[in-house]
Amino acid sequence: MTPLYDRDGWIWQDGEWLEWRAAKMHLLTHTMHYGMGCFEGVRAYEGAGGTHIFRAAEHTRRLVESAHSLDIPLSFSEEALIEAQRACLARNALTDAYLKPTVFLGAEGLGLRAQGLQTHVMIAAWDLGPYISPQAATHGLRALTSSWARHHVNISLCRAKTSGHYVNSILALNTAVKAGFDETIMLDPEGYVAEASAANVFLLRDGVLHTPEVTSCLQGITRDSVIQLARQVLGLEVRERRITRDELYTADEAFLTGTAAEILPLRELDGRHIGTRAGAPPVSEPIKQESVTARLQHLYRQAVRGELEEFSHWLTPA
Ligand code: PMP
Repeated sequence: MTPLYDRDGWIWQDGEWLEWRAAKMHLLTHTMHYGMGCFEGVRAYEGAGGTHIFRAAEHTRRLVESAHSLDIPLSFSEEALIEAQRACLARNALTDAYLKPTVFLGAEGLGLRAQGLQTHVMIAAWDLGPYISPQAATHGLRALTSSWARHHVNISLCRAKTSGHYVNSILALNTAVKAGFDETIMLDPEGYVAEASAANVFLLRDGVLHTPEVTSCLQGITRDSVIQLARQVLGLEVRERRITRDELYTADEAFLTGTAAEILPLRELDGRHIGTRAGAPPVSEPIKQESVTARLQHLYRQAVRGELEEFSHWLTPA
């Protein structure tokens, strides 16, 4: 596979265009050393009405709020950052794409007490495709509960999507992947379900959707889209509350949500098959089309491509 750095294209940085292969930074770049930065993962989709960025305003607002919470000054407005994301798609002739706007601190100084650091913003966009595999959407994931706890409001900024948070995610994910699983479910420091490595989690039980409240998990934008689609289109009740891992084991259905992941069924957790309460048969069958998970996947696919009139305000033309 060609490395990501080796491709044609343009990366936006601080209002300038850098040729993709020449988009380099100094080795003393502060954020590379301490993880003090923040980013977004955004998707654009091509539909009948052209290419649109999905929920650009919400992603850009979260980026600006993450920077603010980290006390990193930004000189670009939300409007300017949305314009830059649109320009990034146009300049790279992308339709279905993943965008990664990132805020980082420069190489003016190193150390925790460094002063006079410049803030930089970069936006790269490329054709990411499915997050794990095309089969993950139909057949779902097998996950392992992590021994690593997720964040706590008194340890880190749970609402912010900071670069440094992902050490914790990658530790948890790598342990699960090395043990032969697809994903990990992380618990908060008190042992309640928080989220997956880079996605929120939902469960369905007796026709009601449940998802953890946003204390130890990211306030996902896909999570919000799914809550709105479930309530407004499917007429489901959605409860945000503390969830225990055995509730996931015994759920009727469970799934993960994220911009990159979209909606992925969670089929198995710690060897318990979700939905059958009958041991752990291998996950060889696709999920049923009439399941709530499949119906939400369908609605989400329609929403991101502008096929749901009542949710067209989620789209920004590229
Ligand atoms: N939790 C974490 C830790 C994530 O990295 C992501 C992906 N951004 C999510 C949840 C899902 O958030 P969103 O739906 O906004 O992409």
